[in-house]
Amino acid sequence: MLDEKLQPIFAEVLRRNPGEEEFHQAVREVLDSVGAVIAKHPHYAEDALIERICEPERQIIFRVPWTDDKGKIHINRGFRVQFNSALGPFKGGIRFHPTVYLGTIKFLGFEQTFKNALTGMPIGGGKGGSDFDPKGRSDREIMRFCQSFITELYRHLGEYTDVPAGDIGVGGREIGYMFGHYKRITNRYESGVLTGKGLAWGGSQVRTEATGYGATYFVQRMLETRGQGFDGKKVVVSGSGNVAIYTMEKIMELGGKIVACSDSSGYVVDQSGIDLPLLKEIKEKNRARISEYAKAKGSSATFIANGRVWDVPADVAMPSATQNELNGQDAQTLLKNGLIAVGEGANMPSTPEAVRKFLDAGILFAPGKAANAGGVATSALEMQQNASRDSWTFEATEKRLETIMHNIHDRCAEMAETYGSPGNYVLGANVAGFIRVAEAMRALGIV
Ligand code: GLU
Repeated sequence: MLDEKLQPIFAEVLRRNPGEEEFHQAVREVLDSVGAVIAKHPHYAEDALIERICEPERQIIFRVPWTDDKGKIHINRGFRVQFNSALGPFKGGIRFHPTVYLGTIKFLGFEQTFKNALTGMPIGGGKGGSDFDPKGRSDREIMRFCQSFITELYRHLGEYTDVPAGDIGVGGREIGYMFGHYKRITNRYESGVLTGKGLAWGGSQVRTEATGYGATYFVQRMLETRGQGFDGKKVVVSGSGNVAIYTMEKIMELGGKIVACSDSSGYVVDQSGIDLPLLKEIKEKNRARISEYAKAKGSSATFIANGRVWDVPADVAMPSATQNELNGQDAQTLLKNGLIAVGEGANMPSTPEAVRKFLDAGILFAPGKAANAGGVATSALEMQQNASRDSWTFEATEKRLETIMHNIHDRCAEMAETYGSPGNYVLGANVAGFIRVAEAMRALGIV
């Protein structure tokens, strides 16, 4: 039940953002936690502070025309939601996926605001994207699309204004094309305007690995609170993109065994443990479907088309693909099979019903805005290196990431305890993120 003071605020969010279900879902979850904060500190409900937090500072929607290899012209829609800049320039990735609409970007920008606050670094929250489908597009088509996208978006960006990065469908290649075009239009080598850049042109060590490594560090720390670790654990990871791959890499390094992973066509089970070099070759190099993995691996691996990867029994689940990919039924199956921990590598991958089931069962549950904050935290480290025209070693950068993730974990745990729900990382993350944003907004006046 939502706190009485928060009910009209949520009703207004629904009225103002019709049909944007993921955004409603993300706001509702945060407001549920904020109830505990305003019960203790009513001043956070003054000056329309919470209403302002729920309304993006700026929303940009634009046309993106581009020409395919046959000369046909296509039109896509581009978005950038600049959600909150109380703590620093807007910061957050760009997603290219055919399902993207304003509600997707709004929910992601909202989540990003609290996630970025949790990192303790000077970054506000934002997100961008397009309903462009990169699947099956040639390299040149991707380049022309990125150039057209940035031709419009560049005027809203800047190292002190808004700093995008990658997300689903946007990796190092796309960031390169966007950065190249930004540089050309502005005549500025403004390294700090985008993160996730290549190492030779202003990128940071560990940025590629950061989200997956960070999620693993977070879960490792969480397991330690119960005297456990990844060693000998069976782990199911959904997805096989950047987050999933580096989650698997770090978990294996810590002694865990990855028994299954997936893509949008289905999943593979490999009881001998996923062969990561093979998976990397198929997904990163060949950009092929995951069924190729089972074909190449032979008898130990099976491909299941269109199934639920959560049917595979595991000790730990790492949902690392997309929003609402793990529902109440999946949660029940996982729990029945002996699950002890969940680490969300993706943004909001568990439905509210699934989250409730995990929390009720008393297992360890790491929400995305805490567990996957390592990516954006390392982006902030990239910005730091760009600002000082420096570049750090892999070891030094990874150490920073590890410390940041441990700090996020400890702060969430501490807040959960202070607000009466020990071990509830959902509450802890929302409260910790909210308080940091709210304090900055109070100090900056009514803007
Ligand atoms: N897209 C990533 C996220 O969801 C990274 C954002 C960034 O590095 O700015 O946090």
